[in-house]
Amino acid sequence: MLHSLRLRLLLMMIIVIVIAVGTVALFASRTTTTEFQRYTEHGGMLRHRRFEAMLVMYYDQNQGWDGVQSLVEQMGQISGERIVLTDEKQRVVADSGQKLVGQVAGRNWASPVAPIVYRGVPVGTLYADPLGQGIDPQRKSFLESVNRALLIAALIAGLAAVLFTLALSRRIVGPIEALTAAARKMEKGDLTQRVEVQSGDEVGELAQAFNSMADGLARLEQLRRNMVTDVAHELRTPLSNIRGYLEALQDGVVTLSPELIDSVHEEVMLLNRLVDDLQELALADAGQLKLVRRPVALTELVGQVVSLLQSQATPKGITIKTDLPPDLPTVDADPSRVGQIIRNLLTNALTYTPPGGEITVLARDAGSEIEVSVRDTGVGIAPEHLPYVFERFYRADRSRTRTTGGAGLGLAIVKQLVEAHGGHVWVESTVGKGSTFTFTLPKAGSSANGAQSI
Ligand code: ADP
Repeated sequence: MLHSLRLRLLLMMIIVIVIAVGTVALFASRTTTTEFQRYTEHGGMLRHRRFEAMLVMYYDQNQGWDGVQSLVEQMGQISGERIVLTDEKQRVVADSGQKLVGQVAGRNWASPVAPIVYRGVPVGTLYADPLGQGIDPQRKSFLESVNRALLIAALIAGLAAVLFTLALSRRIVGPIEALTAAARKMEKGDLTQRVEVQSGDEVGELAQAFNSMADGLARLEQLRRNMVTDVAHELRTPLSNIRGYLEALQDGVVTLSPELIDSVHEEVMLLNRLVDDLQELALADAGQLKLVRRPVALTELVGQVVSLLQSQATPKGITIKTDLPPDLPTVDADPSRVGQIIRNLLTNALTYTPPGGEITVLARDAGSEIEVSVRDTGVGIAPEHLPYVFERFYRADRSRTRTTGGAGLGLAIVKQLVEAHGGHVWVESTVGKGSTFTFTLPKAGSSANGAQSI
């Protein structure tokens, strides 16, 4: 509880309020007291001067202090302080407090307000509050009420601030609590958890980041599930074919012939290729795909791959052409990986191009990169499939079997390899007209050469 954000916010607010309101109240109270004192002292001085003049007048009229007690009492009432009058010998002749009459002014008395001088002769002394009994109750109550008002104001401000903080902390802490609850549920495997983004502030941003993280996790989880299903599916077909051949042999339905061995061998090769492809992707995912980069002449490399695949093209009646400028700069790449990229693209083109079609490998200088394209006059790819063809196990025609195509890993590997070189790959296609796959590679000298892993 003590560690809860809400409580800490509240405590923080209370501390700030106590400091702020306390300081203001203290200063206000001090200033009021001082200013009030200064004001009353000034008023007091004027009053005492008036009292002095009245007493001189009294002395003039009565030629002595007889009966002055009632006048002094009135003065006491007016000024709110104890007024004492002594004669010239410092004996008290009148006291608004009535008790000191007849006594002699004490040494410990506060200094007198004024001597009463009649025609140049001192006839008495006027004292105000000689025994230092402090300010009168009226003045005291004034100051007290000012201080009380300040205290009440401070309390009201404090209370308002606490209520405000509680409301505010609910607004701040509420979404955080929702986030925590969602994160806990996700931890337990519920990846559908999302939080409502209510504000555009930092907490709102956090909620947004959480939602995108949850989307990413859900996507990864989906990919992982698909991957396992796809791998199982891809393994099942060749394995059941092999099993079928072997069981037929066991049952004596077929006899061992070179054709049968070829068929089983073909299925084993399919499995082999699938495992190789998967391993390649796994290595790339783990960042352990080694690239041994050096300046590579593409014209030569493309020539080699094309002549390798020519043997597959000719029986299908497909022509493979190359169109590379003679002065094409070298690229900074791993030649065996670039060979694999071009091979995968050409194999696909051969698969999806009907007899009589044409495949062209082109290249062009594009600033700091070289663009290489493999263009075919094949079946093309429908627009709805185009964004996904580079995904693992994606096949535009899901019903197709492996005999007419691969496992849907060829382009995923192409993408990984191209990106490992710092390039990118894309496709343009029109159904019935053909497709063009293009990738880029950095020119030699535009990046560091040597062995590196991704
Ligand atoms: P596969 O091993 O099935 O060929 P790829 O990853 O190489 O897998 O390709 C994914 C999908 O993209 C293919 O199943 C196919 O539908 C489509 N595709 C790839 N290349 C071409 C092409 N040259 N012409 C038409 N479709 C293509």
